[in-house]
Amino acid sequence: MALSVVWFKRDLRVQDHAALAAAAARGPVLCLYVFEPSVWQQPDAATQHLHFVCESLCDLDQSLKALGARLTVVSGEVTEVLEQLLLAQPFEHLHSHEETGNGVTYLRDQAVQRWCRERGVIWTEWPQFGVVRRLRSRDGWARRWEAHVRAPQALAPKRLQMVSLPWAESEMPDAAGLGLSDQDPPQRQRGGRVLAAEVLHDFLNERSQSYRGGISSPLSAPTACSRLSPYLAHGCLSLREVVRATRERLAALPPEARHHRLGLEAFVSRLAWHCHFIQKLEDEPELEWRNLHRGYDGLREDHFNPAHFAALTEGRTGWPLVDACVAMLRETGWVNFRMRAMLVSVAAYPLWLHWRPVGEWLARQFLDYEPGIHWSQLQMQSGTTGINTTRVYNPIKQAKDHDPQGHFVRRWLPVLRRVPDAWLLEPWRMPPSVQARCGVRLGLDWPLPVVDLEYATREAKTRLHQRRALPEVKAGEADIVRRHGSRSRAAEQTGRTRSAAEAAQQSLF
Ligand SMILES: Cc1cc2nc3c(=O)[nH]c(=O)nc-3n(C[C@H](O)[C@H](O)[C@H](O)COP(=O)(O)OP(=O)(O)OC[C@H]3O[C@@H](n4cnc5c(N)ncnc54)[C@H](O)[C@@H]3O)c2cc1C
Repeated sequence: MALSVVWFKRDLRVQDHAALAAAAARGPVLCLYVFEPSVWQQPDAATQHLHFVCESLCDLDQSLKALGARLTVVSGEVTEVLEQLLLAQPFEHLHSHEETGNGVTYLRDQAVQRWCRERGVIWTEWPQFGVVRRLRSRDGWARRWEAHVRAPQALAPKRLQMVSLPWAESEMPDAAGLGLSDQDPPQRQRGGRVLAAEVLHDFLNERSQSYRGGISSPLSAPTACSRLSPYLAHGCLSLREVVRATRERLAALPPEARHHRLGLEAFVSRLAWHCHFIQKLEDEPELEWRNLHRGYDGLREDHFNPAHFAALTEGRTGWPLVDACVAMLRETGWVNFRMRAMLVSVAAYPLWLHWRPVGEWLARQFLDYEPGIHWSQLQMQSGTTGINTTRVYNPIKQAKDHDPQGHFVRRWLPVLRRVPDAWLLEPWRMPPSVQARCGVRLGLDWPLPVVDLEYATREAKTRLHQRRALPEVKAGEADIVRRHGSRSRAAEQTGRTRSAAEAAQQSLF
């Protein structure tokens, strides 16, 4: 019987894995993962992503072993690996999931498509999210998402007929070998299906009780949020399994558990947003580099200030909540949505930095980097989508609202631990006597704010609003809503379009 190759990418599991199920039903299977130097050399790749993938691959290999197979791990560019493979072990079918990745993986997939056509290999790509390839219209998208998550799970094969390659190394590459030199956050989440299942179980049964009301503050969010994002981004769990398990949990809740129920319902909405945002990149891959609304071109591009960028990325803006978030990211690879939005807002408004370099830096900081969500959010929080109201997060107000006692700031910024509450969120106002008492010299032990927050934010908003008011910019908005805006249920029935999910998102967080 002809051999099929299953090419694992960001789908590192055997459960609910349509590509593996289809290949196994046809006969012998070779399970392949390829470390591609061209992908790992991109500015959005980080050591933590590599290590998380390696951990997940070890776990995947264990799952395959239980089915009588092994994972073949190879380093090289995919078309070259496939060519070598075809010579050593002819195959007719290649199976993988449909990936909505960055520009490099998009071009790589096009090259694989050409290679398959030339060599007479059939490549089948299987959707793993509720993202629709070659979507003609956003109308009815929510119904299609629902159909995707309700569809039966692909059954894991009971036993695999395995083929292995004599020349495959099955060795994990090290970060330096792939040109990665950044630090792996010591407290980041570890990869693999086993841990993913534990996190899901723990969230659904315990932590989700605090989801509602707990996800905004950086103090409560690490436990109140599901923390499933890296497992969804690398496919250790399927989106369908998570939605299904959540709905089962919802069905089992007693009627009096209203708070818990509302939290879990809000969580399911976010799982839909996950695909809603990835759909944008799927439909318009250019949004990774270009303003979604081209009317904002030229607004920030020529004003990049390297000193502002360095202050932000090195966590020395002088605004304690901002610098504490950067410190937490460095240590854990995660912060919650509100703090991510605040970091981008600070970059985009008072520091007037273009979203692309900021996004590359944050992509490396976020263990859960998912290009479709990431670049859409970067543009949304920078005001370049043309369809979202300007949301500027003031880091001092955010600190007062979400860390009023300064526990979060003190935890991540030891230098400020002895600063009294009255000055903690605005240390630059400390009189010299207080500085002496708490041992913090402004400008030496703690940086002065990189710009005047109020003035710089006002200037930035004026520049953005002047651009937004231009007739040609206003005229371009309707087309973006038509292409990318989600439809409310009512709008889906009437055919009206509006940016409902984004509006809801702004108000809920
Ligand atoms: C500038 C910026 C960049 C971001 N980049 C990423 C990214 O690269 N990868 C990523 O997974 N999330 C990203 N997010 C969205 C969000 O912050 C994270 O999904 C969330 O913090 C992950 O933690 P969690 O799994 O505990 O979240 P939960 O609140 O438990 O959410 C569960 C899941 O829903 C999805 N989700 C949650 N919030 C959103 C949202 N606003 N938009 C789309 N999907 C959402 C994610 O898959 C998440 O894992 C970004 C947000 C901002 C503001």
